[in-house]
Amino acid sequence: MVLASPSPDFQADAKQNADRNDQPAESERWTIERSEDLYRIRGWGEPYFGINAAGRVTVSPKGDRGGAIDLYELVESLKQRNLGLPLLIRFSDILEDRLERLNACFAKAIARYSYPGQYRGVFPVKCNQQRHVVEDLVRFGVPHGFGLEAGSKPELLIALAMLEAPGSLLICNGYKDRGYMETAMLAQKLGHLPIVVLEQPEEVDLAIEVARKLGVTPCLGVRSKLCAKGVGRWGTSSGDRAKFGLNLPEIVEAVEKLRGADMLGGLQLLHFHIGSQISSIVTIKDAIREAGQIYVELAKLGANMQFLDVGGGLAVDYDGSKTSFYASKNYNMQNYANDIVAEVKEACEEKGCAVPTLVSESGRAIASHQSVLIFDVVGTSSQPNSVPVLPTEKEHLVLRNLRETYNSIDAENFQELYHDAVQFKDEAISLFNFGYLSITERAKAEQIYWASCRKILEIVRTLPEVPTEFEDLEQILASIYYINLSIFQSAPDCWAIDQLFPILPIHRLNEEPTERGTLADLTCDSDGKFDRFIDRLGVKPNLELHCHNPGEPYYLGMFLVGAYQEIMGNLHNMFGDTNTVHVQLTNQGGYAIEHVVKGDTMDAVLSYVQYDGDDLLERIRQASEAALRAGRIEIEEAQRLLGAYEEGLRSYTYLNV
Ligand SMILES: *Cc1c(COP(=O)(O)O)cnc(C)c1O
Repeated sequence: MVLASPSPDFQADAKQNADRNDQPAESERWTIERSEDLYRIRGWGEPYFGINAAGRVTVSPKGDRGGAIDLYELVESLKQRNLGLPLLIRFSDILEDRLERLNACFAKAIARYSYPGQYRGVFPVKCNQQRHVVEDLVRFGVPHGFGLEAGSKPELLIALAMLEAPGSLLICNGYKDRGYMETAMLAQKLGHLPIVVLEQPEEVDLAIEVARKLGVTPCLGVRSKLCAKGVGRWGTSSGDRAKFGLNLPEIVEAVEKLRGADMLGGLQLLHFHIGSQISSIVTIKDAIREAGQIYVELAKLGANMQFLDVGGGLAVDYDGSKTSFYASKNYNMQNYANDIVAEVKEACEEKGCAVPTLVSESGRAIASHQSVLIFDVVGTSSQPNSVPVLPTEKEHLVLRNLRETYNSIDAENFQELYHDAVQFKDEAISLFNFGYLSITERAKAEQIYWASCRKILEIVRTLPEVPTEFEDLEQILASIYYINLSIFQSAPDCWAIDQLFPILPIHRLNEEPTERGTLADLTCDSDGKFDRFIDRLGVKPNLELHCHNPGEPYYLGMFLVGAYQEIMGNLHNMFGDTNTVHVQLTNQGGYAIEHVVKGDTMDAVLSYVQYDGDDLLERIRQASEAALRAGRIEIEEAQRLLGAYEEGLRSYTYLNV
């Protein structure tokens, strides 16, 4: 135990600290390379995201083909256009690049294995239904004959109206009623190639009946429940107990029914989907092998087989680890295409069957990278970090002991002094409880205690191995960063299924992030937080962040959010859609803001729950008239209140900071 010395030299200590901070050793100087490594940006971000010499995130929407945008500058210039945070930025060039890459990978695989057939992808609309996104995809897909996949009636209506190129595939999945079937089958006559995929045994009879009534020969597919199981979160999307698809006896029965109705020639496609974000290539291979055999057998039974649709599942490497961890994948897009092409070719050649046109329904792998969500930090809360200045009058002994402990902490004695600090802090609380210490004194004791912990943590961080008793220290001292965002609206999968997205500051990356923090959102819900972040291996509970200087903006970006998040977001606490912009590189080396989709106003979100803005305003007006008559409010005040209320209705649901 170290006892208080009569006159500890606090100023000398402060001076020493300042000197150390001013001149970091060469090896300690923070670099953007260290930020790249820390936030793993190369792992998940290449070739689209990087860090420039100014320590800011850059976006290269065309990947390796040149042109980069400083994300911080972009956000600043969007703010000048009255597009406040949180802000979703979509880079259309990234979307195009993803689509090109997928097609290029299949083209390469087809060439490599001399596959005597072609690839025709479709985009599953459910992954991102926003009109601007679907419009872009349809346009970028024209050179590749890229089509769309619908999983419901409303999505079918989108897909039908948006598809342009004649002969583009339109895969019709999901539950179907008579209306769905009729619409899909008649759409053939528009020049599209709608394929009605039978997913339920009842749909077989319905399809036959509707086709007869309309007098059309429909193009049909069957969705198979494979035995090969997916793994991870969506592992149960396949297998015998899967929600969708026909099991093998049902498929055989469907074939016989179609034969009986003289429609077996219409059965042209075999479909399967073993789940999303399949992180292991082995799972994909197993599924293709099984599906390849079913395909060949269907052809043998007399179906007019033309297409094998391998569904979605192509994963995104959210943590950049290139492993079979659920937030990653242990294969790349080329491996994926190679395995599909090679397996299908082998299955067909063995049985002397013509190879199918390969169809895939990649959603996540195409749409994720395009969108970046930017939000700002509105404040932080953390344990006190500085030692209170020395008072002139004599301090209580327990405070002096704490100060002395704080001052004496070094790399040799930190373990021993940690116990001292805990003991003095406990003593201070006891003294307070018995009335011997004032509230100001107790506050000081706690302040010095936390500062000591912080000092010890800094030593612990430099150790090759963290002693067990200090394992929680990082967590205990982590700050809470309050962010201008609703996780329920903008990243619902983080809340609902513990999904991980890369999150990092978009500037100050040439500065050491000295803080550790969790992120708390704007909702009054204790689940509205981010406390799981990507890490080298697994998940970490805190994110490395910079000290937030009040009055200065601190922007964070969440990346790879272009798939599923927008439509699944909800209005918890009435935080609405965020502002969205589409940014595209221009030929002149700059960028253009193509579309702006303003986020919800308060008026709009209130109307979702059947409030009428005018009606609410009228109630406030009447209440203020009554208050005026009763002399409780001045007319100017009443006008001001009404003005603020009315303006509120027209404004964004997020904080204007
Ligand atoms: C959701 C879904 C997809 C898209 O899956 P991803 O993993 O996002 O590529 C494809 N096909 C079907 C039938 C789906 O339900």
